[in-house]
Amino acid sequence: MTASAPITQDVLTLPRNLPEEGRRNLVGLTRPELRAALVAAGTPEAQAKMRENQIWQWIYQKGVRDFDAMTNLAKTYRALLAAHFVIAVPEIVARQVSEDGTRKYLVRIAGGHEVETVYIPEEDRGTLCISSQVGCTLTCSFCHTGTQKLVRNLTAAEIVGQVMLARDDLGEWPEPGRAPKDETRLLSNIVLMGMGEPLYNFESVRDAMKIVMDGEGISLSRRRITLSTSGVVPEIARTAEEIGCMLAVSFHATTDEIRDRLVPINRKWNIAELLDALRAYPKLSNSERITFEYVMLDGVNDSDADARRLVKLIQGIPAKINLIPFNEWPGAPYRRSSEARIRAFADVIYKAGYASPIRTPRGEDIMAACGQLKSATERARNPRRAS
Ligand code: SAH
Ligand code: SF4
Repeated sequence: MTASAPITQDVLTLPRNLPEEGRRNLVGLTRPELRAALVAAGTPEAQAKMRENQIWQWIYQKGVRDFDAMTNLAKTYRALLAAHFVIAVPEIVARQVSEDGTRKYLVRIAGGHEVETVYIPEEDRGTLCISSQVGCTLTCSFCHTGTQKLVRNLTAAEIVGQVMLARDDLGEWPEPGRAPKDETRLLSNIVLMGMGEPLYNFESVRDAMKIVMDGEGISLSRRRITLSTSGVVPEIARTAEEIGCMLAVSFHATTDEIRDRLVPINRKWNIAELLDALRAYPKLSNSERITFEYVMLDGVNDSDADARRLVKLIQGIPAKINLIPFNEWPGAPYRRSSEARIRAFADVIYKAGYASPIRTPRGEDIMAACGQLKSATERARNPRRAS
Protein backbone atom coordinates (compact mmCIF):
# COMPACT_ATOMS: atom_id res chain seq x y z
CA MET A 1 0.00 0.00 0.00
CA THR A 2 3.03 2.30 0.19
CA ALA A 3 2.77 4.62 -2.73
CA SER A 4 6.55 4.82 -3.17
CA ALA A 5 7.13 1.05 -3.44
CA PRO A 6 8.80 0.03 -6.70
CA ILE A 7 6.00 -1.26 -8.81
CA THR A 8 6.14 -2.09 -12.43
CA GLN A 9 2.95 -1.82 -14.32
CA ASP A 10 2.24 -2.54 -17.93
CA VAL A 11 -1.04 -1.46 -19.34
CA LEU A 12 -1.76 -3.65 -22.29
CA THR A 13 -3.99 -1.96 -24.76
CA LEU A 14 -4.38 -4.55 -27.48
CA PRO A 15 -7.43 -6.73 -27.11
CA ARG A 16 -6.46 -10.35 -27.30
CA ASN A 17 -8.45 -13.38 -28.32
CA LEU A 18 -11.84 -11.85 -27.86
CA PRO A 19 -14.48 -14.35 -28.84
CA GLU A 20 -15.73 -13.56 -32.27
CA GLU A 21 -19.41 -13.06 -32.70
CA GLY A 22 -21.30 -16.30 -33.01
CA ARG A 23 -18.41 -18.68 -32.54
CA ARG A 24 -18.51 -20.76 -29.42
CA ASN A 25 -15.61 -20.66 -27.01
CA LEU A 26 -14.20 -24.15 -26.40
CA VAL A 27 -12.47 -23.08 -23.20
CA GLY A 28 -14.46 -24.00 -20.12
CA LEU A 29 -16.50 -26.78 -21.74
CA THR A 30 -16.46 -30.04 -19.83
CA ARG A 31 -15.35 -33.10 -21.82
CA PRO A 32 -18.90 -34.23 -22.61
CA GLU A 33 -19.80 -30.65 -23.61
CA LEU A 34 -16.76 -30.40 -25.83
CA ARG A 35 -17.56 -33.67 -27.54
CA ALA A 36 -21.19 -32.66 -28.10
CA ALA A 37 -20.06 -29.31 -29.55
CA LEU A 38 -17.71 -31.08 -31.96
CA VAL A 39 -20.43 -33.44 -33.10
CA ALA A 40 -22.91 -30.59 -33.56
CA ALA A 41 -20.33 -28.86 -35.78
CA GLY A 42 -20.07 -31.90 -38.04
CA THR A 43 -17.49 -34.19 -36.46
CA PRO A 44 -18.52 -37.82 -37.20
CA GLU A 45 -19.69 -39.61 -34.06
CA ALA A 46 -17.14 -42.37 -34.56
CA GLN A 47 -14.27 -39.89 -34.39
CA ALA A 48 -15.67 -37.68 -31.67
CA LYS A 49 -13.83 -39.21 -28.70
CA MET A 50 -10.48 -39.07 -30.46
CA ARG A 51 -11.02 -35.48 -31.63
CA GLU A 52 -12.11 -34.46 -28.14
CA ASN A 53 -8.86 -35.86 -26.74
CA GLN A 54 -6.69 -34.23 -29.36
CA ILE A 55 -8.26 -30.83 -29.04
CA TRP A 56 -8.31 -31.03 -25.25
CA GLN A 57 -4.58 -31.69 -25.22
CA TRP A 58 -3.84 -28.82 -27.58
CA ILE A 59 -5.82 -26.39 -25.46
CA TYR A 60 -4.92 -27.47 -21.95
CA GLN A 61 -1.63 -29.28 -22.25
CA LYS A 62 0.10 -27.18 -24.85
CA GLY A 63 -1.64 -23.84 -24.48
CA VAL A 64 -2.51 -23.53 -28.17
CA ARG A 65 -5.10 -20.89 -29.12
CA ASP A 66 -5.06 -21.22 -32.87
CA PHE A 67 -6.67 -24.15 -34.66
CA ASP A 68 -4.04 -23.91 -37.38
CA ALA A 69 -1.37 -25.00 -34.90
CA MET A 70 -3.18 -28.31 -34.27
CA THR A 71 -0.94 -30.23 -36.62
CA ASN A 72 -2.34 -33.68 -35.96
CA LEU A 73 -5.68 -32.60 -37.44
CA ALA A 74 -6.37 -32.44 -41.15
CA LYS A 75 -6.37 -28.96 -42.65
CA THR A 76 -10.01 -29.16 -43.65
CA TYR A 77 -11.01 -30.19 -40.14
CA ARG A 78 -9.01 -27.30 -38.68
CA ALA A 79 -10.90 -24.95 -40.99
CA LEU A 80 -14.20 -26.45 -39.85
CA LEU A 81 -13.22 -25.87 -36.22
CA ALA A 82 -12.16 -22.29 -36.89
CA ALA A 83 -15.49 -21.60 -38.58
CA HIS A 84 -17.43 -22.70 -35.52
CA PHE A 85 -15.25 -22.08 -32.51
CA VAL A 86 -12.72 -19.89 -30.78
CA ILE A 87 -10.27 -20.67 -28.00
CA ALA A 88 -10.45 -17.57 -25.85
CA VAL A 89 -9.23 -16.61 -22.42
CA PRO A 90 -10.00 -13.32 -20.67
CA GLU A 91 -7.78 -10.40 -21.44
CA ILE A 92 -5.13 -9.05 -19.06
CA VAL A 93 -5.64 -5.29 -19.09
CA ALA A 94 -3.06 -4.41 -16.47
CA ARG A 95 -0.36 -6.29 -14.68
CA GLN A 96 1.43 -5.14 -11.57
CA VAL A 97 4.47 -6.77 -10.01
CA SER A 98 5.06 -6.24 -6.30
CA GLU A 99 8.51 -5.84 -4.81
CA ASP A 100 8.05 -9.33 -3.31
CA GLY A 101 7.42 -10.88 -6.74
CA THR A 102 3.64 -11.16 -6.38
CA ARG A 103 1.89 -10.44 -9.66
CA LYS A 104 -1.56 -8.98 -9.79
CA TYR A 105 -3.50 -9.18 -13.00
CA LEU A 106 -6.47 -7.03 -13.78
CA VAL A 107 -8.54 -9.26 -16.00
CA ARG A 108 -11.31 -8.08 -18.28
CA ILE A 109 -14.21 -10.38 -18.94
CA ALA A 110 -17.19 -10.14 -21.25
CA GLY A 111 -19.40 -7.16 -20.60
CA GLY A 112 -16.40 -5.00 -19.71
CA HIS A 113 -16.30 -6.26 -16.12
CA GLU A 114 -13.05 -6.81 -14.32
CA VAL A 115 -11.72 -9.22 -11.75
CA GLU A 116 -8.33 -9.63 -10.16
CA THR A 117 -6.10 -12.67 -10.20
CA VAL A 118 -2.97 -12.85 -8.08
CA TYR A 119 0.13 -15.01 -8.51
CA ILE A 120 2.19 -15.56 -5.39
CA PRO A 121 5.64 -17.16 -5.81
CA GLU A 122 7.06 -18.96 -2.80
CA GLU A 123 10.11 -21.10 -2.28
CA ASP A 124 8.39 -24.44 -2.63
CA ARG A 125 5.37 -23.47 -4.72
CA GLY A 126 3.67 -20.88 -6.86
CA THR A 127 0.08 -20.18 -5.94
CA LEU A 128 -2.53 -18.59 -8.13
CA CYS A 129 -5.38 -16.91 -6.30
CA ILE A 130 -8.39 -16.84 -8.58
CA SER A 131 -11.73 -15.10 -8.49
CA SER A 132 -15.12 -16.75 -8.93
CA GLN A 133 -17.45 -13.75 -9.02
CA VAL A 134 -17.35 -10.06 -9.88
CA GLY A 135 -18.03 -8.64 -6.45
CA CYS A 136 -19.82 -10.71 -3.81
CA THR A 137 -23.35 -11.01 -2.45
CA LEU A 138 -22.01 -11.36 1.07
CA THR A 139 -20.93 -8.41 3.12
CA CYS A 140 -18.22 -9.56 5.48
CA SER A 141 -17.38 -6.38 7.34
CA PHE A 142 -13.57 -6.71 7.11
CA CYS A 143 -13.43 -7.58 3.40
CA HIS A 144 -12.86 -5.06 0.64
CA THR A 145 -14.56 -7.23 -1.97
CA GLY A 146 -17.60 -7.31 0.32
CA THR A 147 -18.12 -3.58 -0.28
CA GLN A 148 -18.64 -4.28 -3.98
CA LYS A 149 -22.07 -5.58 -4.94
CA LEU A 150 -22.28 -8.77 -6.94
CA VAL A 151 -22.17 -7.92 -10.62
CA ARG A 152 -22.23 -11.46 -11.94
CA ASN A 153 -20.90 -14.97 -11.60
CA LEU A 154 -17.89 -15.92 -13.68
CA THR A 155 -18.33 -18.62 -16.29
CA ALA A 156 -16.24 -21.80 -16.18
CA ALA A 157 -14.28 -20.37 -19.14
CA GLU A 158 -13.46 -17.24 -17.19
CA ILE A 159 -12.37 -19.25 -14.16
CA VAL A 160 -10.14 -21.73 -15.98
CA GLY A 161 -9.11 -18.81 -18.23
CA GLN A 162 -7.43 -17.13 -15.25
CA VAL A 163 -5.19 -20.16 -14.87
CA MET A 164 -4.41 -20.13 -18.58
CA LEU A 165 -3.58 -16.44 -18.77
CA ALA A 166 -1.30 -16.75 -15.76
CA ARG A 167 0.49 -19.63 -17.48
CA ASP A 168 0.81 -17.46 -20.57
CA ASP A 169 2.35 -14.68 -18.50
CA LEU A 170 4.67 -17.08 -16.68
CA GLY A 171 5.66 -18.76 -19.94
CA GLU A 172 4.70 -22.13 -18.56
CA TRP A 173 3.20 -24.21 -21.31
CA PRO A 174 5.38 -27.31 -21.30
CA GLU A 175 6.94 -28.85 -24.36
CA PRO A 176 4.97 -31.90 -25.50
CA GLY A 177 5.79 -34.92 -23.40
CA ARG A 178 7.78 -32.88 -20.92
CA ALA A 179 5.18 -31.79 -18.43
CA PRO A 180 7.00 -30.75 -15.28
CA LYS A 181 6.13 -32.36 -11.99
CA ASP A 182 3.78 -30.39 -9.75
CA GLU A 183 6.60 -29.51 -7.34
CA THR A 184 8.72 -27.83 -9.95
CA ARG A 185 6.01 -25.83 -11.66
CA LEU A 186 5.86 -22.07 -11.42
CA LEU A 187 2.10 -22.37 -11.07
CA SER A 188 1.75 -25.40 -8.79
CA ASN A 189 -1.21 -24.51 -6.58
CA ILE A 190 -4.57 -22.83 -6.90
CA VAL A 191 -6.57 -21.13 -4.20
CA LEU A 192 -10.14 -20.00 -4.77
CA MET A 193 -9.64 -17.05 -2.49
CA GLY A 194 -9.99 -14.11 -4.83
CA MET A 195 -13.13 -12.12 -5.36
CA GLY A 196 -16.42 -13.79 -4.64
CA GLU A 197 -17.93 -16.74 -2.82
CA PRO A 198 -17.09 -19.85 -4.88
CA LEU A 199 -19.92 -21.91 -3.44
CA TYR A 200 -22.44 -19.38 -4.74
CA ASN A 201 -21.16 -20.18 -8.22
CA PHE A 202 -20.90 -23.90 -7.70
CA GLU A 203 -21.35 -25.39 -11.18
CA SER A 204 -18.90 -23.08 -12.94
CA VAL A 205 -16.30 -23.48 -10.22
CA ARG A 206 -16.71 -27.26 -10.30
CA ASP A 207 -16.45 -27.49 -14.08
CA ALA A 208 -13.40 -25.20 -14.14
CA MET A 209 -11.64 -27.19 -11.43
CA LYS A 210 -12.41 -30.48 -13.18
CA ILE A 211 -10.70 -29.09 -16.25
CA VAL A 212 -7.69 -27.93 -14.23
CA MET A 213 -7.40 -31.37 -12.58
CA ASP A 214 -7.79 -33.39 -15.78
CA GLY A 215 -4.70 -35.56 -16.24
CA GLU A 216 -4.45 -34.89 -19.96
CA GLY A 217 -4.46 -31.14 -19.51
CA ILE A 218 -3.22 -28.73 -16.89
CA SER A 219 -3.16 -31.72 -14.60
CA LEU A 220 -2.98 -30.21 -11.14
CA SER A 221 -3.71 -32.59 -8.31
CA ARG A 222 -6.87 -31.96 -6.31
CA ARG A 223 -4.68 -31.69 -3.24
CA ARG A 224 -3.10 -28.58 -4.71
CA ILE A 225 -6.42 -26.81 -5.07
CA THR A 226 -7.98 -25.10 -2.06
CA LEU A 227 -11.46 -23.68 -2.15
CA SER A 228 -12.25 -21.09 0.49
CA THR A 229 -15.82 -20.57 1.60
CA SER A 230 -17.38 -18.20 4.06
CA GLY A 231 -19.59 -21.12 5.14
CA VAL A 232 -22.26 -21.99 2.57
CA VAL A 233 -23.21 -25.07 4.55
CA PRO A 234 -25.58 -26.80 2.06
CA GLU A 235 -22.86 -26.85 -0.63
CA ILE A 236 -20.04 -28.27 1.48
CA ALA A 237 -20.88 -31.95 1.04
CA ARG A 238 -21.29 -31.37 -2.70
CA THR A 239 -17.85 -29.78 -2.81
CA ALA A 240 -16.41 -32.94 -1.32
CA GLU A 241 -18.30 -35.23 -3.66
CA GLU A 242 -18.16 -33.31 -6.92
CA ILE A 243 -14.81 -31.49 -6.68
CA GLY A 244 -12.86 -33.25 -3.94
CA CYS A 245 -10.40 -30.42 -3.45
CA MET A 246 -8.99 -29.11 -0.20
CA LEU A 247 -11.33 -26.91 1.79
CA ALA A 248 -10.64 -23.72 3.69
CA VAL A 249 -13.25 -21.96 5.73
CA SER A 250 -13.39 -18.31 6.71
CA PHE A 251 -14.03 -18.95 10.38
CA HIS A 252 -12.83 -15.71 11.95
CA ALA A 253 -14.78 -15.82 15.22
CA THR A 254 -15.56 -18.18 18.07
CA THR A 255 -18.99 -16.96 19.14
CA ASP A 256 -22.09 -16.57 16.99
CA GLU A 257 -22.44 -13.02 18.24
CA ILE A 258 -19.08 -11.92 16.80
CA ARG A 259 -19.29 -14.13 13.72
CA ASP A 260 -22.72 -12.68 12.89
CA ARG A 261 -20.99 -9.31 12.68
CA LEU A 262 -17.88 -10.35 10.80
CA VAL A 263 -19.28 -13.01 8.47
CA PRO A 264 -23.00 -12.27 8.17
CA ILE A 265 -23.75 -15.59 6.45
CA ASN A 266 -23.43 -16.92 10.00
CA ARG A 267 -26.95 -15.65 10.63
CA LYS A 268 -28.14 -18.20 8.11
CA TRP A 269 -25.87 -21.09 9.06
CA ASN A 270 -24.35 -20.68 12.48
CA ILE A 271 -21.11 -22.02 13.92
CA ALA A 272 -22.64 -25.32 15.11
CA GLU A 273 -24.16 -26.07 11.69
CA LEU A 274 -20.95 -25.09 9.94
CA LEU A 275 -18.87 -27.36 12.17
CA ASP A 276 -21.18 -30.31 11.48
CA ALA A 277 -20.65 -29.89 7.74
CA LEU A 278 -16.89 -29.51 8.20
CA ARG A 279 -16.68 -32.61 10.36
CA ALA A 280 -18.05 -34.67 7.50
CA TYR A 281 -15.84 -33.14 4.82
CA PRO A 282 -12.52 -34.96 5.20
CA LYS A 283 -14.15 -38.37 4.97
CA LEU A 284 -16.37 -37.44 2.06
CA SER A 285 -13.54 -35.91 0.06
CA ASN A 286 -10.75 -38.13 1.30
CA SER A 287 -8.64 -35.08 2.10
CA GLU A 288 -6.56 -34.92 5.21
CA ARG A 289 -7.49 -31.68 6.83
CA ILE A 290 -9.42 -28.47 6.71
CA THR A 291 -7.86 -25.04 6.85
CA PHE A 292 -9.51 -22.64 9.26
CA GLU A 293 -8.83 -19.09 8.19
CA TYR A 294 -8.84 -16.61 11.00
CA VAL A 295 -8.33 -12.92 10.35
CA MET A 296 -6.69 -11.13 13.25
CA LEU A 297 -8.64 -8.01 14.13
CA ASP A 298 -7.37 -5.85 16.93
CA GLY A 299 -9.59 -6.13 20.02
CA VAL A 300 -12.38 -7.92 18.14
CA ASN A 301 -11.53 -11.64 17.90
CA ASP A 302 -7.91 -11.92 19.00
CA SER A 303 -7.89 -12.68 22.75
CA ASP A 304 -6.42 -15.76 24.39
CA ALA A 305 -9.98 -16.70 25.36
CA ASP A 306 -10.87 -16.68 21.64
CA ALA A 307 -7.92 -18.92 20.88
CA ARG A 308 -8.97 -21.38 23.57
CA ARG A 309 -12.56 -21.38 22.36
CA LEU A 310 -11.40 -21.97 18.82
CA VAL A 311 -9.39 -25.01 19.80
CA LYS A 312 -12.35 -26.40 21.70
CA LEU A 313 -14.78 -25.82 18.86
CA ILE A 314 -12.72 -27.62 16.26
CA GLN A 315 -11.87 -30.57 18.46
CA GLY A 316 -11.95 -33.78 16.47
CA ILE A 317 -11.65 -32.09 13.07
CA PRO A 318 -8.29 -32.63 11.35
CA ALA A 319 -7.31 -29.00 10.92
CA LYS A 320 -4.72 -26.37 10.30
CA ILE A 321 -5.41 -22.84 11.46
CA ASN A 322 -4.22 -20.12 9.18
CA LEU A 323 -3.91 -16.81 11.00
CA ILE A 324 -4.28 -13.89 8.61
CA PRO A 325 -3.06 -10.51 9.81
CA PHE A 326 -5.83 -8.14 8.77
CA ASN A 327 -4.96 -6.37 5.55
CA GLU A 328 -6.10 -2.84 5.76
CA TRP A 329 -7.88 -1.06 2.98
CA PRO A 330 -8.92 2.55 2.78
CA GLY A 331 -11.91 3.16 5.02
CA ALA A 332 -11.75 -0.26 6.71
CA PRO A 333 -13.43 -0.30 10.12
CA TYR A 334 -10.78 -2.51 11.77
CA ARG A 335 -7.10 -2.54 12.62
CA ARG A 336 -4.64 -5.38 12.42
CA SER A 337 -3.78 -7.10 15.72
CA SER A 338 -0.26 -6.44 16.97
CA GLU A 339 2.44 -8.93 16.11
CA ALA A 340 2.82 -9.88 19.77
CA ARG A 341 -0.93 -10.56 20.02
CA ILE A 342 -0.92 -12.70 16.89
CA ARG A 343 2.03 -14.68 18.18
CA ALA A 344 0.38 -15.21 21.58
CA PHE A 345 -2.81 -16.40 19.84
CA ALA A 346 -0.78 -18.73 17.62
CA ASP A 347 0.95 -20.10 20.67
CA VAL A 348 -2.28 -21.20 22.35
CA ILE A 349 -3.31 -23.02 19.19
CA TYR A 350 0.08 -24.57 18.66
CA LYS A 351 0.19 -25.86 22.22
CA ALA A 352 -3.17 -27.52 21.63
CA GLY A 353 -1.53 -29.51 18.86
CA TYR A 354 -2.53 -27.63 15.71
CA ALA A 355 -0.34 -26.12 13.06
CA SER A 356 -0.94 -22.38 13.24
CA PRO A 357 1.00 -20.65 10.48
CA ILE A 358 0.72 -16.88 10.30
CA ARG A 359 0.07 -15.90 6.71
CA THR A 360 2.62 -13.38 5.55
CA PRO A 361 0.80 -10.66 3.68
CA ARG A 362 1.93 -10.67 0.08
CA GLY A 363 1.71 -7.98 -2.51
CA GLU A 364 0.45 -5.36 -0.09
CA ASP A 365 2.11 -2.57 -2.05
CA ILE A 366 -0.15 -3.36 -4.99
CA MET A 367 -3.31 -4.07 -2.95
CA ALA A 368 -3.07 -7.74 -3.88
CA ALA A 369 -3.28 -9.15 -0.37
CA CYS A 370 -6.27 -11.14 0.94
CA GLY A 371 -9.44 -9.14 1.09
CA GLN A 372 -8.01 -6.15 -0.76
CA LEU A 373 -9.23 -7.15 -4.17
CA LYS A 374 -11.78 -5.01 -5.86
CA SER A 375 -12.19 -4.05 -9.47
CA ALA A 376 -10.25 -0.93 -10.33
CA THR A 377 -13.19 0.31 -12.37
CA GLU A 378 -15.41 -0.08 -9.36
CA ARG A 379 -12.89 1.86 -7.27
CA ALA A 380 -12.97 4.67 -9.77
CA ARG A 381 -16.75 4.55 -10.11
CA ASN A 382 -17.40 4.66 -6.41
CA PRO A 383 -14.37 6.34 -4.86
CA ARG A 384 -16.03 7.19 -1.57
CA ARG A 385 -16.97 3.64 -0.75
CA ALA A 386 -13.89 2.07 -2.19
CA SER A 387 -10.91 4.25 -1.44
N1 SAH B 1 -15.42 -15.72 -0.33
C1 SAH B 1 -14.50 -16.71 0.09
C2 SAH B 1 -13.16 -16.63 -0.59
C3 SAH B 1 -12.54 -15.27 -0.80
S1 SAH B 1 -11.88 -14.41 0.58
C4 SAH B 1 -14.34 -16.66 1.57
O1 SAH B 1 -14.83 -15.73 2.20
O2 SAH B 1 -13.75 -17.57 2.12
C5 SAH B 1 -10.33 -15.24 0.96
C6 SAH B 1 -9.91 -15.07 2.42
O3 SAH B 1 -9.45 -13.75 2.70
C7 SAH B 1 -11.07 -15.33 3.37
O4 SAH B 1 -10.66 -16.10 4.48
C8 SAH B 1 -11.42 -13.95 3.79
O5 SAH B 1 -12.13 -13.98 4.98
C9 SAH B 1 -10.06 -13.30 3.89
N2 SAH B 1 -10.10 -11.84 3.94
C10 SAH B 1 -11.04 -11.03 3.42
N3 SAH B 1 -10.73 -9.74 3.66
C11 SAH B 1 -9.58 -9.74 4.36
C12 SAH B 1 -8.73 -8.70 4.86
N4 SAH B 1 -9.02 -7.43 4.68
N5 SAH B 1 -7.59 -9.06 5.48
C13 SAH B 1 -7.28 -10.37 5.61
N6 SAH B 1 -8.02 -11.38 5.14
C14 SAH B 1 -9.16 -11.07 4.53
FE1 SF4 C 1 -17.39 -12.33 -0.02
FE2 SF4 C 1 -15.41 -13.86 1.03
FE3 SF4 C 1 -15.27 -11.18 1.09
FE4 SF4 C 1 -17.02 -12.42 2.63
S1 SF4 C 1 -14.76 -12.60 2.78
S2 SF4 C 1 -17.42 -10.59 1.40
S3 SF4 C 1 -17.62 -14.12 1.32
S4 SF4 C 1 -15.27 -12.46 -0.72
